[in-house]
Amino acid sequence: MKEFYDVAVIGGGVVGCSVFNKLIRLGKSVVLIDKAADVATGASKANSGLIHAGYDPAPNTLKAKLNVEGSKLYPSICKRLSVPLKTVGALVVGDDIEKIKNLHERGITNGVEGLSILSRKELLKIIPDLQEHITCGLQAKTAALISPYYFTISICDEGILNGGEVYLEQDIKSVKKEKEYFVIKTENNVFKVKNVVNSAGAGYNDVAKLLGSESYDIKFARGEYFVFSKTSTTKVPCTIFPLPTARGKGVLLTPTVDGNYLVGPTSIESDDRTVTTDAGLNEIKEKAKLILKDVNFKNAIREFSGIRTICGDDFIIEKSKKRKGVVNLAGICSPGLSSAPAIANMVAKLLGYNEEERKNLKKLKPYKMFKDMTQEEQQKVLKKDKNYGQVVCKCEKITRGDIIQALNRPLKIRSVDGVKRRTNAGMGICQGGFCFTKVVNLIKEQRKIRYEDVLKENRGSEVALGDIREV
Ligand SMILES: Cc1cc2nc3c(=O)[nH]c(=O)nc-3n(C[C@H](O)[C@H](O)[C@H](O)COP(=O)(O)OP(=O)(O)OC[C@H]3O[C@@H](n4cnc5c(N)ncnc54)[C@H](O)[C@@H]3O)c2cc1C
Repeated sequence: MKEFYDVAVIGGGVVGCSVFNKLIRLGKSVVLIDKAADVATGASKANSGLIHAGYDPAPNTLKAKLNVEGSKLYPSICKRLSVPLKTVGALVVGDDIEKIKNLHERGITNGVEGLSILSRKELLKIIPDLQEHITCGLQAKTAALISPYYFTISICDEGILNGGEVYLEQDIKSVKKEKEYFVIKTENNVFKVKNVVNSAGAGYNDVAKLLGSESYDIKFARGEYFVFSKTSTTKVPCTIFPLPTARGKGVLLTPTVDGNYLVGPTSIESDDRTVTTDAGLNEIKEKAKLILKDVNFKNAIREFSGIRTICGDDFIIEKSKKRKGVVNLAGICSPGLSSAPAIANMVAKLLGYNEEERKNLKKLKPYKMFKDMTQEEQQKVLKKDKNYGQVVCKCEKITRGDIIQALNRPLKIRSVDGVKRRTNAGMGICQGGFCFTKVVNLIKEQRKIRYEDVLKENRGSEVALGDIREV
């Protein structure tokens, strides 16, 4: 731990981690503090995983500007981090040509490239299974798929590799403002920092209260989803949206970057619990069938939900007027993932950091899974390490070597879900039924901790009472 940091970033979602990474690249000393046991455990782990083209946000908003800027930054950042990004494009489909034309206009005003209006005949060439009532659509060629949590983990890891520090499982007890710096106290640490970025997502107001900065009227809206297996009989070639409504972009169908399919999300004002409900799941079933004739929900292997943090119609990204040295990031709902790299640039400017990026930055190694290696590469790693010859997750074909590699990435975690986000172990048809205990054993072994210290996700989700012989 350093005696002083230039900046503390509170909250390690995609926004906080992007800010963390950017400031480190500018040569600042930065500490990231999160209450969770991993980064990307909030909205950044449970969303549609889309880098939106940027035709949807109202013109002249931060959402419009940062979405378009962010989506243009993703390809080079993903290349640098070896994070998969698939530009499969998106379609908005409906039966109201005026609304499609308006969306097209809005996209052009926002500076989106690669937009075109398609007739039903043209749409059918891409999606033969379209419902009869659909007459037209908007195609956005630049829309892309990403794993939101894998991107967040990787951008955080690269930050650590270049000198950033991350403290997980930290409950902030107090923040005191001294003349030139803040003293942030958690249960077991004291951080002295010049500036603070509040990127705590759903926890924004809790952190603002501690900082003495602006609180906002924040509302939550739950988005529920079905995940379809990779072998799904319902295939979706690109992201397909209905026409947007006042409630948002609507229930969409999309492939994921990993080869599964997502159907959802709903948008229901809620509390901040990530549950799924009969009402939400039934709504998805009804709405998805308004787009495609055959959506077979027998392909579903999991349901999940994510929480939108909404604060009016736009993002709030500002220097606090109440507390000098604090930057507020409130209401970063969709398109927050698409905008994250541009938000990071904006935060750097707000903090007055206008310098060039450092020249001596280290490159994150590409964490390739065994199954994704060429035969030659597989032979090479197998010769060095027999752990790659032992499959742990049969559904996703993830080896012991892959999991050990993930547990030895720069950010050290102790949760089964953390391993899942880094490797996809447990994401297949059996949803971890066969590999869960093997992953627990690997975490125990690699972290050199006890069974009762291994978590499913966060503190309070310990997977065991202890070793059975001892208990
Ligand atoms: C259903 C749904 C679908 C979406 N789809 C898309 C999409 O396809 N494309 C897109 O661009 N955007 C999408 N979004 C929006 C996107 O997911 C969010 O904008 C983005 O993830 C917000 O990131 P964040 O870092 O601000 O917040 P989060 O990811 O929620 O991170 C906040 C972090 O703060 C930490 N924290 C909270 N309180 C405290 C505290 N007191 N102390 C310390 N740490 C704290 C949390 O543990 C968490 O790690 C979607 C959102 C939802 C909910």
